[in-house]
Amino acid sequence: MIVDCHVHISACTPSHGGMSPRLRGSIPFRFMRWHFGIPGYGPSTEMALERLLVATVEGARELDAAIVVALDAVYDGQGHLDEAHTHLHITNDYVLELARRHQRILPGASVHPYRPDALRELERCVKAGAVLLKWLPVVQNFNPADPRCYPIYEMLAHYGLPLLAHTGGEKSLPVLDGSVADPALLEEALKRGVTVIAAHCGTRDGPGEPDYLSTFLRLARQYPNCYGDTAALTLPTRCYALPKVLADATIHAKLVHGSDWPILSLPAPWQVGMMDSLRLMREGNWMRRDILIKQRLGFDQEYWHRGAKLMRLANVSSLSHRARPDGGNQGQVGNDGHRKCPAPNES
Ligand SMILES: [Zn+2]
Repeated sequence: MIVDCHVHISACTPSHGGMSPRLRGSIPFRFMRWHFGIPGYGPSTEMALERLLVATVEGARELDAAIVVALDAVYDGQGHLDEAHTHLHITNDYVLELARRHQRILPGASVHPYRPDALRELERCVKAGAVLLKWLPVVQNFNPADPRCYPIYEMLAHYGLPLLAHTGGEKSLPVLDGSVADPALLEEALKRGVTVIAAHCGTRDGPGEPDYLSTFLRLARQYPNCYGDTAALTLPTRCYALPKVLADATIHAKLVHGSDWPILSLPAPWQVGMMDSLRLMREGNWMRRDILIKQRLGFDQEYWHRGAKLMRLANVSSLSHRARPDGGNQGQVGNDGHRKCPAPNES
């Protein structure tokens, strides 16, 4: 089973979350809205985004499913909601709802570790079918090494739920604390047995930024439960990491497929050759283009299946509704409106 473990959605209605005026006016968001032809802000915008997401996942026919991640709001050190600094908020209920409506979408929860009901909310999401927990500490403004995160780690380890944590640079959303981009801050989670997927493998996202790739490489070698996703690694700013992670067999065996859609995916001509670069650019579906680029770069078979294995989805073969060459595996699942995979403690 092949999943894209790192896919985003935006929300434009209060019950699903929202975007701040600052974010809506930012260059990356204006570019994406222009590219995808999605104007406005409100229920109809949100519905257009959902249709775009579903069509994109359907078009990425190499995939069985995409994990669409929530993004919890910012909370301050006292555990109070910090609306002024929350620029993008995607509720857990929204991604759970999307997963119920669309067979090839799986929900990734997001719970800020400082909120007073963090454990209750995480457990609720696990029971509702979340397949991972997503953190973006530089934007959500917390430190993964803070002892307030330890109970979360205990719960993640208990349920076997992977933690997909952003590491390295960030350009799409306003950064509140760049110092928490260091993957070394996740070491306490690793020591407690959590399956950690360091999103972006600690790469920088622009010149002059700190580069944590070598820290990620050290952790991935040291901890069997440390993985890294390839989300946005095809960006010109981050693609310097690709030859390094592909050349090292130990690291290659720790990579998980993710695109970071709707972030642009670009083939670097100096990595894939000019002709292949032009061929790959003709694929207009950025989620699929990301797959084709990585196929061309030589990611091995295990790489494509690793995410599903980490999320224990591999044994839920009926999730896939891809047309198989043998005509089998056409079954529908999830029509009970709930889990497409059993919670680890139920399996
Ligand atoms: Zn992302």
